[in-house]
Amino acid sequence: MIQIAVAKPVIGEAEIEAAVRVLRSGNVVQGPEVAGFEEEFSRLVDGRHCVAVNSGTSALQLALLAMGIGPGDEVVVPSFSFAATANAVRLVGAEPVFADIERDSFCLDPEAAAAAIGPRTAALMPVHLYGHPAAMEALVALAERHGLALVEDAAQAHLASLGGRPVGAFGTTGCFSFYPTKNMHSLEGGMVTTGDAALARRVRLLRNQGMEQRYANEIVGANLRMTDVSAAIGRVQLGRLPEWTERRRANAKALDAGITTLVTPPVAPGAEHVYHQYTVRVPEGIGREAAQQALAAAGVGSAVYYPTPIHRLTPYASEGSSSERTWDLPETERAAAEVLSLPVHPSLGEAELDRIVAACNTLGAEQ
Ligand SMILES: *Cc1c(COP(=O)(O)O)cnc(C)c1O
Repeated sequence: MIQIAVAKPVIGEAEIEAAVRVLRSGNVVQGPEVAGFEEEFSRLVDGRHCVAVNSGTSALQLALLAMGIGPGDEVVVPSFSFAATANAVRLVGAEPVFADIERDSFCLDPEAAAAAIGPRTAALMPVHLYGHPAAMEALVALAERHGLALVEDAAQAHLASLGGRPVGAFGTTGCFSFYPTKNMHSLEGGMVTTGDAALARRVRLLRNQGMEQRYANEIVGANLRMTDVSAAIGRVQLGRLPEWTERRRANAKALDAGITTLVTPPVAPGAEHVYHQYTVRVPEGIGREAAQQALAAAGVGSAVYYPTPIHRLTPYASEGSSSERTWDLPETERAAAEVLSLPVHPSLGEAELDRIVAACNTLGAEQ
């Protein structure tokens, strides 16, 4: 039996043709395809400025740098995320301060974020984890009240929205990833979104050696450019994203309706989830390892995102951590112990969805 994979990146004929067309054109780095991709992507974020870069992590780093966040600053982040969220903060010389998540959404809890704000806090950085939007109304208000920058880590949440407003259009900046397993990809890639034209210009300078005109360097910058091959692939994928998102939602609906043994993911009022991951909680009586083994035996792949919260990973747990704080994150610890992601990607067929539901519903039956 072929195992149903948790993620299935698409590299189809259209993507291959787009890449070959760019290669034959000879115009391969940050040319017309990148400009076209930025323009098309801005329609997803209420027309905000978009700057394409070579990864989601680069997007986060450049967003922080462009907003002037660095040594001496603290950034409030969830610990229940991919390490890139906190790595970007450390890479610009600032310090992540970890705040707990909400039980239902798995995203940064605005009350916990408020409690984590101190005299050095420069920014809040919520993550729209698994494709569910964070509680942006409360977080925008909190950032405004304290005069803080707000960076949305939207790496997993292309097309997600809250109250009709898309993610990436709430914060001072929004950051997307186009890594192959994300809801759309450009092989590798990322996008910074912002409503502030001057900030967008700073990101553009920072991604390309501080230059707008060649050899007229204005500031110190890096080389974090996107290639036109990536942008051309990204444009093909962007065109398919609405249809793929609908399929993810329909798949999630079928899993919600069918699964009786596991705690299926709730959706907050007003939120449009895009199911980058379909993440359940496994009740203690079943046990997560036993569940994964039983699912695998039934041909159903599953994965744990993320088994170790960031604050317990070596670079953040060590005594070198300049904040020297201890973290009390009960919902984060609980989620890390209980979550399990099931296949939800758009390539699933009806028979596969049935197999996933059937395999889930036999869990715990033997005991
Ligand atoms: C994937 C991801 C990133 C980093 O994106 P890359 O393109 O892999 O650098 C950042 N944050 C979160 C939450 C992610 O899932």
